[in-house]
Amino acid sequence: MSITFKKSLISAGIAIFAATTFSFNTMAKESSSTNVTNNYDSYPVNNNFDNEIVVNNDKTNFFLWSPMAQEAVVLVYENYDSESPVETLNMTKNEANGTWSATINLEKNKMLGKYYTFKIKFDNKWLEETPGIWAKAVSINGKRAAIIDFDKTNPKGWENDNSPALKNQADAIIYEMHHRDFSMHSNSGINNKGKFIAMIEKGTLSLNGEKTGIDHLKELGITHVHILPSYDYNSIDEKHLEKNKYNWGYDPQNYNTPEGSYSTNPADPYSRISEMKQMVMALHKAGIGVVMDVVYNHTAIGDGSNFSLTAPGYFYRHRQDGTYSDASGCGNETASDREMMRQYIINSVKYWTKEYHIDGFRFDLMAIHDIETMNQVATELRKINPDAILYGEGWTAGDSPLPIAKRALKDNAKQMPGVAVFSDDIRDAIKGHYSNVKERGFATGRTGDKETVKFGIVGATNHPQIDFSKCNNSKAAYTLSPLQVVNYVSCHDDPTLTDKLKLSMPESAENERLQAAKLAQTIVFTSQGMPFMFAGEEVFRDKKGVHNSFESPDSINAINWNNKKTYRDQFDYYKNLIALRKAHPAFRMTTAEDVAKHLVFDVIDSESIISYSLIDNANGDTAKEIKVIFNGSDKPMKVNIPSAKWNIIVSDGKIDLNGTKKSKGGKITIEPRSAKILTR
Ligand code: CA
Repeated sequence: MSITFKKSLISAGIAIFAATTFSFNTMAKESSSTNVTNNYDSYPVNNNFDNEIVVNNDKTNFFLWSPMAQEAVVLVYENYDSESPVETLNMTKNEANGTWSATINLEKNKMLGKYYTFKIKFDNKWLEETPGIWAKAVSINGKRAAIIDFDKTNPKGWENDNSPALKNQADAIIYEMHHRDFSMHSNSGINNKGKFIAMIEKGTLSLNGEKTGIDHLKELGITHVHILPSYDYNSIDEKHLEKNKYNWGYDPQNYNTPEGSYSTNPADPYSRISEMKQMVMALHKAGIGVVMDVVYNHTAIGDGSNFSLTAPGYFYRHRQDGTYSDASGCGNETASDREMMRQYIINSVKYWTKEYHIDGFRFDLMAIHDIETMNQVATELRKINPDAILYGEGWTAGDSPLPIAKRALKDNAKQMPGVAVFSDDIRDAIKGHYSNVKERGFATGRTGDKETVKFGIVGATNHPQIDFSKCNNSKAAYTLSPLQVVNYVSCHDDPTLTDKLKLSMPESAENERLQAAKLAQTIVFTSQGMPFMFAGEEVFRDKKGVHNSFESPDSINAINWNNKKTYRDQFDYYKNLIALRKAHPAFRMTTAEDVAKHLVFDVIDSESIISYSLIDNANGDTAKEIKVIFNGSDKPMKVNIPSAKWNIIVSDGKIDLNGTKKSKGGKITIEPRSAKILTR
């Protein structure tokens, strides 16, 4: 139901629900038809249920886990829109594992191209048809599952496609992108606008001649694209793509097949699958990994979802009165602590990794899931790809029956060593509170955020020079190492950085906001942890002040690529910032011990200055010492540094990796809203 509701709550959940139990009794809009006195935990389970169809040469088998169904059938259709099935197969139940099966004796070539659904009798009623929870190919709008030959979905050379190597998560530089945002604008120079295969177009240019598309990403230097939800979601009518509707996609329908509106032909089940693979392969060839945003925490609808139509009630959490509990703010929440739901999440992640070569996952509202599930996801995922990236939002958007101690919360991150969490601490401390749009932060001249920014700089680890009592949000280190934190200053939620600066600095000249943006991102990209940026920030992208743009038109969401020319200086700065991070392992330490030993803050008696050194060739750096100084005020500030032969790398909004300009140290000036970085 209410994605609006959700998206206004998602960020709101950050601190409130992490810290306290919260009564959310006004949000139950959808009542469950199931009897919650059901003891779901006593249901027989199927220990390896990740496939609902096996097509053999002479017969095809169907499977459905549905322990409480009284009867179950498979309906086979000639076409995705044919009215009557060509076959209706009665399924037989295996009481031991609650799984129904049926076989049709038909040759493979006669099965390929057909469609199917399941239907169960529950509580003496036949429920609606469903493609099941393991449909791997679907018809338009995902209503029927499609029988296809998966070998035909692989682009040429797919068997040799490899993930880019990644030594550790701190080496990743993540770019969060929505498919339409990136290519939809009329001046993107891209033909397949809003499609997966926008990414396979090389040599594209904006109207005024700047690189766009995948060439832009290569030029910028990011290591991973994080794509917003790309599984099949509910809100876009795939039969009417000409309406050009936009949605972020946080309304899951079929978890194991790509979204049809990002394909060139949603009516052809091959199209979305093969085109997404083409996108992944093109990015891999460019040396860029793909992280997928996954939303296993709730489904677009409750009662009519594929979960509800196969095992009513089982996959969700409920309140005492039988209504859906709603930690997602979207009308329902799934139950990862229940065996088959946990297994489903793990198997789905494994499936995307193996079948689509996805390199990592970002878990939406991760704290709706339990710690044990996330730990198992991490273990199983890295058995397939040891370099896989895994992070999530360590909060919920409402209260949950799942006890706080079991939630995959930011504050419980130490119990999930293989999982990283977003640092809302550094985000809000740098630029001001995400929802209080007028509030400023350290980079925009507010005082009181210094200690929280420092806490972000050390990757939320237990550093001896942080006074945790002075931090604004978390009052203790929550990571075991910097590999467990994602540092960022903006994402798809809330205003873009450009908009936030405009809203919080209403009297400012654009040049001042450009300076503040550079400073904000310099803090992010030099901090310990995994840096993350919202696509288009590098060209000073705005959303015309709209913060919750989940269904706003392209005119709000699409990146205007002419900005790249207008703000070329900004782009070059970001590009060099990324190069700076790559050139200096000191910014990418992997243990809390190293950070405590090699990152030393200077004691500076100003709330507007943060100054620290990365010392003793930190993490194998060529520089013996890197001095990093941030001035968040709108005035030039003087800072004393040791007398030495310093190379000036960053100064007054310019980056020179060669350090051509030198400094003898002593009293040096830091320009307003800027970073100074020197090496020796
Ligand atoms: Ca869809």
